[in-house]
Amino acid sequence: MPTTRLAIIGAGISGLTLAHKLQDKFNVTLFEKADRPGGRVTSKVIGGVDFDYGAQFFTAKTSAFQSFVDEMQAKGVVGIWNGHFIEFDHTDICSERDWDESYPHYVGTPNMSAIGNWLAEPLTIHYETTITELKKTASGWQLLQDDTELGAYDWVVLTMPPPQVSQLLAAEHTFQTTLSAITMQACFALRVAPKNEQDLGFNAALIRNHDISWISKNSSKPERSEIPSIVVHATNAWADAHLNEDLQYVENHMLTCLADITQIAADNIAYRDVKRWVYANAPKQSGNPFLVDKTDQIAVCGDGLIKGRIESAYISASKLAQYLSA
Ligand SMILES: Cc1cc2nc3c(=O)[nH]c(=O)nc-3n(C[C@H](O)[C@H](O)[C@H](O)COP(=O)(O)OP(=O)(O)OC[C@H]3O[C@@H](n4cnc5c(N)ncnc54)[C@H](O)[C@@H]3O)c2cc1C
Repeated sequence: MPTTRLAIIGAGISGLTLAHKLQDKFNVTLFEKADRPGGRVTSKVIGGVDFDYGAQFFTAKTSAFQSFVDEMQAKGVVGIWNGHFIEFDHTDICSERDWDESYPHYVGTPNMSAIGNWLAEPLTIHYETTITELKKTASGWQLLQDDTELGAYDWVVLTMPPPQVSQLLAAEHTFQTTLSAITMQACFALRVAPKNEQDLGFNAALIRNHDISWISKNSSKPERSEIPSIVVHATNAWADAHLNEDLQYVENHMLTCLADITQIAADNIAYRDVKRWVYANAPKQSGNPFLVDKTDQIAVCGDGLIKGRIESAYISASKLAQYLSA
């Protein structure tokens, strides 16, 4: 049993990946503020209807991530979404194609939450535990939730979006310069259950020059319930500009945008709601895929250090794991 105590803050894809890769070398404990694993890779079943309202799908560009995806596919945790994909310029179709196995678009099965759930299975995770303070003491890093001490750890790794990492570190910490240069972008996810099956003409659509950037027929992904469900994302720019807007206003505006492209009328919708993501997407970065201070035994990893993609979260955590294992 390893004795070096490692605390990982955040049980998204990067925290879970790091824990997996280090569990034989460290005594690993994860702390997660939500009541579930997966972070931004998540789904919700509302009235029997499935909605993946964070990450929609993923591809594999590196062989390291492809091997991980292959393992998940062999275990039935992910499947391939052979969707019909359309790109719109505002409301005009500018290209369309069928996704196929020559360049697979993967999704969790039966929903995106399956990935986090599977990764979390063998790990020790304290849910509904928000780390509010880190204190360096003689016995190591003391983690606190408000006034409650959660234990001392030799190493601590923070895996949240950079602005949330930044809040937990001292203002003069050496990581702050890198963290403050990463501007996370917001998003709104509109979840819509039409009253009946809709032929949108596509399973997934990317939209340019509009206030929404994405529409997916969620129910067309593999192993979903047959009840029709649609997920719409606002552009990061529109979400940044309307971040503190009343959610009813956001919902109405996004429904109007959806109708603009799909002609789904408001009176043909059985259920709708909207989820605000304050830290959704990270633009491409060119620096190190992780931050580490070997003297203080503290590190940071996550998609924010590479790009807002599931693969980036995996690669950032894998590279840090490699470094800490050496
Ligand atoms: C709307 C949306 C659409 C997206 N679409 C795609 C897509 O189609 N394809 C793709 O590849 N990627 C997509 N992404 C990005 C992808 O989801 C992320 O790149 C990836 O999930 C990041 O994983 P992570 O572990 O680095 O961070 P996160 O998933 O953010 O994990 C961090 C975890 O830390 C927890 N946490 C935060 N603060 C604390 C604290 N103080 N104490 C304890 N826990 C804390 C959070 O609850 C969270 O679970 C999308 C994201 C969003 C939001």
